[in-house]
Amino acid sequence: MLIVMRHGATREEVEKVISVIQEMGYQAQPMPGAQRTAVGLVGNDGRVDASRLEGLPGVHEVIHVSQPYKQVSREWKNEPTIVRLPGGGGVAFGGNDVVAIAGPCSVESERQIIDAARQVKDAGAVVLRGGAWKPRSSPYSFQGLGKPALRLLAKAREETGLLICTEAMDETGLGWVAETADIVQIGARNMQNFSLLKLAGRCGKPVLLKRGISATVQELLLSAEYLLAEGNYDVILCERGVRSFDTATRNLFDLTAIPVVHKLSHLPIIADPSHGTGLRDKVIPMARAAVAAGADGIMVEVHPNPEEALSDGAQSLFPDQFAQLMREVRIIAEAIGRRVAEPAAVSA
Ligand code: PEP
Ligand code: MN
Repeated sequence: MLIVMRHGATREEVEKVISVIQEMGYQAQPMPGAQRTAVGLVGNDGRVDASRLEGLPGVHEVIHVSQPYKQVSREWKNEPTIVRLPGGGGVAFGGNDVVAIAGPCSVESERQIIDAARQVKDAGAVVLRGGAWKPRSSPYSFQGLGKPALRLLAKAREETGLLICTEAMDETGLGWVAETADIVQIGARNMQNFSLLKLAGRCGKPVLLKRGISATVQELLLSAEYLLAEGNYDVILCERGVRSFDTATRNLFDLTAIPVVHKLSHLPIIADPSHGTGLRDKVIPMARAAVAAGADGIMVEVHPNPEEALSDGAQSLFPDQFAQLMREVRIIAEAIGRRVAEPAAVSA
């Protein structure tokens, strides 16, 4: 971190900056220049409160030389993190495999989730998704079956061998979800629920952290830092589109976030083109594009009968569309030297 002093800052002002840096427990390195003096803060461990320095008399600006997040950064750890899921199947995010997570937006009934599980498994998914608690814009929309849905997901896992990914919306639900699920999803609306993130960091299960509706990539990485700071290194990031001025799609699916995150962080990132676009016919091209862009996986909403879905029917693929998508995705993955994780790897 570099503290640039104003032109004409006094010696006392420079000395004050130096003494505050030392008080904070870091080393100060004054660099007098022809026009103005800068003071380097040496030993920045990512916890420096820049506002304390910004407010001092004579300070012009504080320049951040390194990123505000630490453990999630490539500087901290250069080799990619591989998030291995439990079980003998060897499903892992962040290695050579591209992992497909698929299933309905919400768990609606036993019949629906078991049918969906069989269909997505046949097509090539290795993880089943389905919400038990749903973050809906309207309180009158279907809110999810709640705890009974977790039992149904566990049953679908038993019957198909698929692993389970489902969202925890609050502290109480998190405990239940962590007991049942193989991946705990933190949704877009909770990306900056810092108390929930702290708990998720101690939940003992891999976490799928979705990008907030209006969050920058930096904010996404800072939220991931909360999980790592609590000791959970099994974090998978997820690009799911951000709000934009354009109403042509539900969200603006940010394809560039995939290579951007890969450059800044060692964590795996997957793409959710279902929420990213909100429209069934846009999901397929954006899923293909995400794999081509290097996504470590895709999360796709698939419903046995989208027209009757209780949530997100318009963006849910028909099972045969998903099967076709998976055939295409295999070719794209191969073309860039990767491989789609096969359900055969899962012990049913
Ligand atoms: C979901 O995955 O069902 C969901 C609600 O996603 P998001 O948090 O990205 O809106
Ligand atoms: Mn949904």
